[in-house]
Amino acid sequence: MLTGIILQAHPTIRQKITLCQWMGCDRFIWNAKCDEQKYLLAYARRYLPIGTFPPVDQKFSQYKSKELSPWLYDCPSQILRNSASRWYNTQRAFMKGQCGAPRRKRKSNKASVLLTRELFRFEKCADGVTRLFIGTKTNNIGYLSLKIHRSFAIPNSITISRENERYLVSLCYDDGVDEADLKTAEQHLEYLSQCSREELERFTIGIDRGVARPVQAGEDVYDLTEEQKKKKKAKERYIRRCQRRLSKQQKSSKRRRKMRHRLAKASTKIANIRKDFCHKTSHSIVNREATKVIILEDLNTSGMTKKPAPKKDCQSRRFLPNRRKAKSGLNRSILDKCWYQLEIYLRYKAHRAGKAVFAVPAHHTSQECADCGHTHPNNRKRQDLFSCQCCGHADHADHNAAEVIKKRAINSFLHSGTELSRRGVLLGIGRGAIHKTPAVKAACARGSEASKEKALATAVA
Ligand SMILES: [Zn+2]
Repeated sequence: MLTGIILQAHPTIRQKITLCQWMGCDRFIWNAKCDEQKYLLAYARRYLPIGTFPPVDQKFSQYKSKELSPWLYDCPSQILRNSASRWYNTQRAFMKGQCGAPRRKRKSNKASVLLTRELFRFEKCADGVTRLFIGTKTNNIGYLSLKIHRSFAIPNSITISRENERYLVSLCYDDGVDEADLKTAEQHLEYLSQCSREELERFTIGIDRGVARPVQAGEDVYDLTEEQKKKKKAKERYIRRCQRRLSKQQKSSKRRRKMRHRLAKASTKIANIRKDFCHKTSHSIVNREATKVIILEDLNTSGMTKKPAPKKDCQSRRFLPNRRKAKSGLNRSILDKCWYQLEIYLRYKAHRAGKAVFAVPAHHTSQECADCGHTHPNNRKRQDLFSCQCCGHADHADHNAAEVIKKRAINSFLHSGTELSRRGVLLGIGRGAIHKTPAVKAACARGSEASKEKALATAVA
């Protein structure tokens, strides 16, 4: 099974300059290939019969010219070839419908270069430290200072990337774990459907993701540490200050460029705090001894964080207030809790550990009682308190939601009609975990009609 890791590099100033030049050459070839393809497509569309497409190749020697692009001769030709082949692979994937078309790259603070086997060498030196030599025999930058925080097998290629003056080496290697040995979600579901309720109760954990408490996993609460919260807050304050100053600076000035760089750096710090939280939380949840099955709620985060639609008054043709600012504040705090990132980390880590991750439909998890199943908005009087109007069950709202999620999943496992959607959501049954028969449906409909009449009667009275 392929595993990827990212190592932080600390190049010297000379090395940085050379690496930047190589990244520029890489981008030049990529953009030239994009332009060429665009031109050929336009030509074919205009002058050739319908259905004729230009050939796709990975040639790049036509861009090397002593007069027009002499700097390409300073760069190892393997880098140019790698760039062309990277573009070729992307274009082929696009033609198969697997991804978008390769686009031109902009000159920005983000860049990368792909180095294949002939351009790097991991050497075990006399002092026992592994060092990375970059370049060919005649054209190289010497040894790159690297923080190797874990062991790995020698890869076939590495990518050196730069983002906000941070240099990273990412590599991919085979860790020896056979993919065929690990169970798929369908196999997990099949096994779980044969377990008893007691067994499922014992090794299943429900996870509720929220805004006030980012993660509630069973009895445990996961949140940022006090120090991280403090650091994050300070950085956010710093970003606001920088943005105020940026707004008054002249476009394309040096100071503005510097300020943008500072902003980008501060934003990266905050993103790193979030990433750290997600990694530590997912690691802790997956490595629990007793837990074998992890249940999430199926949240459409991108849909939940959309801006509200504008409201328009038909008569006066004016826009009415639609609480957009309040919604954007909520969106920010939802996105700040990185629900989706956590889900991705949980899924891949659980898969490697041989554990299962499923999702259940998310509707009314915060209003349903974990004890009796009574669902009503009045059950949640306060943000943190859940108190059932039917049976009197009182609990912290997030803990109650985690229990509801767990209960739904267990009912789904025990139900024979449960199916798995492509996103790993348990489907085929309602949130009550049983199919509603026509008689039950009719009764529910009657009930709602009766309550409508009752409400109407009290309103009239
Ligand atoms: Zn209840």
